[in-house]
This record gives sequence, structure tokens and C-alpha cells, in this order.
Amino acid sequence: MRYVSTRGDQTERRFCEILLEGLAPDGGLYLPVAYPQVDTATLARWRGLAYADLAFEILSLYIDDIPAADLKALVARTYTPAVFGTEAIVPVRRLGDSGLLIEALSNGPTLAFKDMAMQLLGHLFEYELGRRGEQLNILGATSGDTGSAAEYAMRGKHGVRVFMLSPHGRMSAFQQAQMFSLQDANIHNIAVEGVFDDAQDIVKDVSNDLAFKRQYKIGTVNSINWARLLAQVVYYFAGYFQATSGRVQATPEQVSFTVPSGNFGNVCAGHVARMMGLPIKHLVVATNENDVLDEFFRTGTYRVRGSAETHETSSPSMDISKASNFERFVFDLVGRDGARTKALFGDAIAREGAFTVSPAEFSAIAGYGFQSGRSTHADRLATIRGTDERFGDLIDTHTADGVKVAAEHVEPGVPMIVLETALPAKFAETIREAVGREPGRPAGLDGIEALPKRFTVMKPDTAAVKAFIQAHCAD
Ligand SMILES: *Cc1c(COP(=O)(O)O)cnc(C)c1O
Repeated sequence: MRYVSTRGDQTERRFCEILLEGLAPDGGLYLPVAYPQVDTATLARWRGLAYADLAFEILSLYIDDIPAADLKALVARTYTPAVFGTEAIVPVRRLGDSGLLIEALSNGPTLAFKDMAMQLLGHLFEYELGRRGEQLNILGATSGDTGSAAEYAMRGKHGVRVFMLSPHGRMSAFQQAQMFSLQDANIHNIAVEGVFDDAQDIVKDVSNDLAFKRQYKIGTVNSINWARLLAQVVYYFAGYFQATSGRVQATPEQVSFTVPSGNFGNVCAGHVARMMGLPIKHLVVATNENDVLDEFFRTGTYRVRGSAETHETSSPSMDISKASNFERFVFDLVGRDGARTKALFGDAIAREGAFTVSPAEFSAIAGYGFQSGRSTHADRLATIRGTDERFGDLIDTHTADGVKVAAEHVEPGVPMIVLETALPAKFAETIREAVGREPGRPAGLDGIEALPKRFTVMKPDTAAVKAFIQAHCAD
């Protein structure tokens, strides 16, 4: 499989070439030149596979520059019950008699779905860097989920160091404990005296210093990484098989998914699965008050927001005003026209912060199965309380946005699977507000707030962060 940019550069790259990179040189995102097609016979064969074996089958269609035996071993080491808590890895459960199914993606080490992809990325990075005899220093800014998932994926991995900036004192006690209690020598937590945007600005400044970036082998693990997206394709298949198990039918049954969305990474993986031929009827994009995506699917206008217009909500991992993976879907929507995609994202967004697709493009959206809806703080509280009271099922705030929107889109005869993107233990404050009690924690996480913490507090100063990286690159 070869990969090309969404903005027209036709240079074909292989998987391991783009693995450690971010954007394509022309500013676009990488996508495979074509989506491998999965027929009914293949679906039937995959149905009985263990998760790691299913992951191997799907990844093999996209990765031809890692020997099969190596890829199989990497995947087998990633998706284990020891790391993800169950044999099924992503168990699907019924939400009482609501007609909805919940697919649990958040039983990894950091209790959010980002572990599903990041754990694989950790193994892939270690493998590829070892093969090249190279090192990589991952620099990132986090307000919670991404940073912790990256640290738990990269801890102890050879050839990789993580420098993670977070806003000092602004993460929840649980999130701080999760990240700062890591004692691994290759993990560095930097608490910046400022807000998330200050941390993010430092990362941008450092990345814009190309000489520094090259000399110190600075890389990222942000959500535009194709390997992350690819890893997420697997659980759409796994969820489909569980939701349709025991039903023997001549034609494959369809299911729909509702996906709590921010950067459009998770639901974009669903789009890829659907393009491969997985019988998905609808992909329902659920947003919170930050509803850029819902607005697009309702109106055809994509209008990014500034930080002043971005709301701080109780589903914080969806507080995104510019959906970094959205360009991938739009590239497919406009018939894979790189010049058109560049006009929309490279020109219109850069110039005006917005674009509107043509009427023909807008009416084509339905053919890709997309629908959307939005949810508010009041909706979240009511949904969390409702599912707890009616079904004895306590869900987190992001999943609640999904359940609220899914309920508005269920159709008779089509199983609706809501992706559970985090466990309630991560967002205890809102859970208390909704149900008046503390959410339970998975075994082993009680009292982590009391563990010794390892982090460095810094002024929001790019030079200081660079000096810190230089000093720790000799470790
Ligand atoms: C990252 C995240 C999301 C949003 O996922 P995208 O891929 O950015 O759309 C939703 N819920 C949780 C808990 C997350 O961590």
C-alpha cells in the first residue's frame, strides 16, 4: 500500500516512511491511494478471530514494509487482556432496553479510547526506530487524555523519549496523578505556568525551529498520525461482529455507530472501515457545545473557531474548534481532488477560517452515511443520571454525549453502537454532579493521587523548554 497527500502531492510514500511524520510536505494529510475492499467471504472469515488476529488481518492490508511475522508479534504484544482488561479487548454490551449498544474502548491503562491506538504506536515506534538505529523525542502539549495515553504507550520503550507539556494545576487530580506518577526515565512531564494554549504555543515554537527540530529529532504523536487512525479501524470491525453475532443472514446486516467526536480521528476510522466495505449504515458524529462538526453536517459550512469561542465543557476531550482529521473525509467527499481540498483547507480556512462545500458536494455527504447531533452540559447530566437510574450503567461524560445523540438517530432493525470513549472514573466531578456519588475506579487505581510525583514546573518560555530537552537528550 502507498500513501498520498490530501492536497495534491502525488509522491507515493510507504507506511514506515509516514509512521514517524506528521503532515505531508504540502501541508496535507496522508491517506492510502485506495481503500482495500473486504468482501462478504472475508467478513465471515474474520468474524471468529481474536482481536489481535483481526488487527493483524486489517493492518496487513495497509502495511507492506514490516515483515508479516514481525507485525503479527507487535500486534499480539499490544492487544492483550493484561493491557485492555478483557479477552474481547473491546466488549460490546446492551444499554438496558434502550435499543443502544455500548462498545467499551476505554479499558486500557489510561481509561480512554486513545490507548487503543497509542499502545500500538508505542510498539511500532520502538520497532521502526530500532530498525533504523534512530532516536525520537516526542514533544506534545496535553490537557489530559492524549498526553497520558502517549506516556503510557511510550514508557520504557527504547529509542523514544517523551516531553509532555501540560498547564500547571489545571488538570484533574486524577489526570495529574496518572501522568506525574510515572517514574520511567524516558518520560518527562513539564508543568507550564499557564493555560493549555500557552503549552501548545511552546510546542509550535519549538517545531517551527527546523534546525532544533532536526538536531534533537523532535517528533509528535498527534491525532493526524495515520498509524493511529488505522489502529482505530479495527474496533469498528470488532464491534460489528459482536453486535451481529448469532444472526445468520444471506446478506450482511447493517449496523450504525455513534461517535463522540473532537478532532474527527475516531469517526474518520469509521469512515475508512465503511469505505472498505464494512456494512455501516450511519456514522453519527456527536459533538458537545463545540459543534463545528455538527454545523458542517447540518449546513455544509465548516467554520473553525478561535480559542475565545471554544467552550470549556464537562466533556473536555471534545473541546475542539478545528477538527484536525476532517480534511481526510473532505478529500474523499470531493472525489479525491487534491486541488479542491487545498482550496478549501489550505486557502479558504487559512484566509477566512471557513468554507462552504458546493450543493453537489453537500448532497453527496448522505452517500457516506454521515449524520450528526450535539449535546450540552444539561444533556450530559440528564443522560448520565438516566442511564444510571434506568439501566444501572454509569457512563462518562463523552460517552453520554454519544448516547444522547444516538438516541435521536436509532432506526428499527439497525443495531446502534455507541463508542464508549472514557470511563467515568476520569471525570468524577461531573459524575458527582449527575448522580451524587463517586464513580468507581478499576482495580489498582485507588489512591494513585498519593503516589510520588515526578514533574518539572516551568514558566511559559520556549527557550527554557528547549534547554530542558537538550539537557535530557543525553540520558
Ligand atoms: C480524544 C477523545 C475524544 C474525541 O476523539 P476524536 O478522535 O478527537 O474525535 C472523545 N472522547 C474522549 C474521552 C477522548 O479522549
